[in-house]
Amino acid sequence: MFKYLEEEKRLEKARKIFLHAKKNSKFYEEKYKNIDEIENYKDWVKVPFLTRTELFNNSYPKTRSMLTYPIKKMLITSTGGSSGIARYGVMTYQEYEEFVNVQAKAMKLLGIKEDDIVANLFVAGNLWPTFFSVADVLKKIGAVHLPISSNINVDQIIKYILEFKPNVLLSLPTVLIFLADKFLSENLDGNFIKFLGYAGEHLSKSAQEYLKKAFKNAKTFALAYSSADCGLMGYQCNKCKSNEYHVPTDFQFVEIYDFEREKICGKGETGEVIVTNLARFSQPIIRYRIGDLAQWKDFPCSCGDKNPVFILKGRAGADFKIGGEYISMQRVERALSTFVSRDGISANYQLSIEDVGEEREKLKITLTVESSTPDISSKWREKIAENLMKEIEPIKVGVEMDYVYLNVEFVKLGSLERSPITGKIKNLKDKRAGV
Ligand SMILES: [Zn+2]
Repeated sequence: MFKYLEEEKRLEKARKIFLHAKKNSKFYEEKYKNIDEIENYKDWVKVPFLTRTELFNNSYPKTRSMLTYPIKKMLITSTGGSSGIARYGVMTYQEYEEFVNVQAKAMKLLGIKEDDIVANLFVAGNLWPTFFSVADVLKKIGAVHLPISSNINVDQIIKYILEFKPNVLLSLPTVLIFLADKFLSENLDGNFIKFLGYAGEHLSKSAQEYLKKAFKNAKTFALAYSSADCGLMGYQCNKCKSNEYHVPTDFQFVEIYDFEREKICGKGETGEVIVTNLARFSQPIIRYRIGDLAQWKDFPCSCGDKNPVFILKGRAGADFKIGGEYISMQRVERALSTFVSRDGISANYQLSIEDVGEEREKLKITLTVESSTPDISSKWREKIAENLMKEIEPIKVGVEMDYVYLNVEFVKLGSLERSPITGKIKNLKDKRAGV
């Protein structure tokens, strides 16, 4: 269903965007002043990357330097700031229509059909496009839309769900986990739910299993790999594993780049995802460093679709450093996972790290976990701390040397701080100076 473009054709489209941007936008004119012509891929790799800070500093309404059209017949959106500072973007209605078209194709491939009743549980408002674009996507598919949102009282959300019995829930992992917490602690029947579609964050395996406990008949799937900056960058077929995505080559030119070794990644090598949107001329997005890590799969997908598949490897920089070692958040998740759903323990958590002590020479590490019964869950505090130390050696060493204070705490469901715009919980809060 998604068109496949040979690399040569992709480059041709990317080159068209490049020339348009250089000619019509002040920002790109300056940025590309030393690049004359792009004839082949060798020329293309000389095009400098676009960073998040550049997008932030040069977007409308601060300046119009990235825009190539006047502000007319346009939509203004925000990325929501979950990955640093919120960036605004503009696109024409025509471009938005194309964004919706590809999202609808991706959702159809996942099996969302006309007779599905779909609860839209994304956060609405604050220029964040997910809530209203889900509305447009569902309209295109013809499915029944319940625009509940998740910025209303959770009891009200549950009331609508029990009243209309949607078979599909779409939201962020944070919200789906929160609903699972509520369904489990209040003993509600969620067996009519067949699909849980998530977007915006990664959903760990243990969190997936947790959702299964509350919604026994539900299949969990990632809606798509997309961002407010770039639109859809990856879609899944029924052969894709949970972190694998086909590239819509007719819509997006995706490269994977290794910044340490300064080279384009071949198959099997991990690097950062670099995106050039092939449909957006109003505010071109060219070789944008989106901030995710990925790897090309080294064989074609067995579904028959020729669009290449990449494996998403998490967020670049979603690690923290202790004792000179980089620790991936996956290890924190693993340490917690065996305790999730015991005595009300939720899969929603936050790890905070801060400097303490007179000379700020010590480290306080706190793992705060939501629970439907924080008092009862508290009996697992030590066991979880032990598991964290077992999983992450530098924490264990730090505790033994009295350099790290490790704490595990439980708070009531819904009380960890959420982004007011997107509703996401920040799993890592590194408050140390210089981080
Ligand atoms: Zn496939």
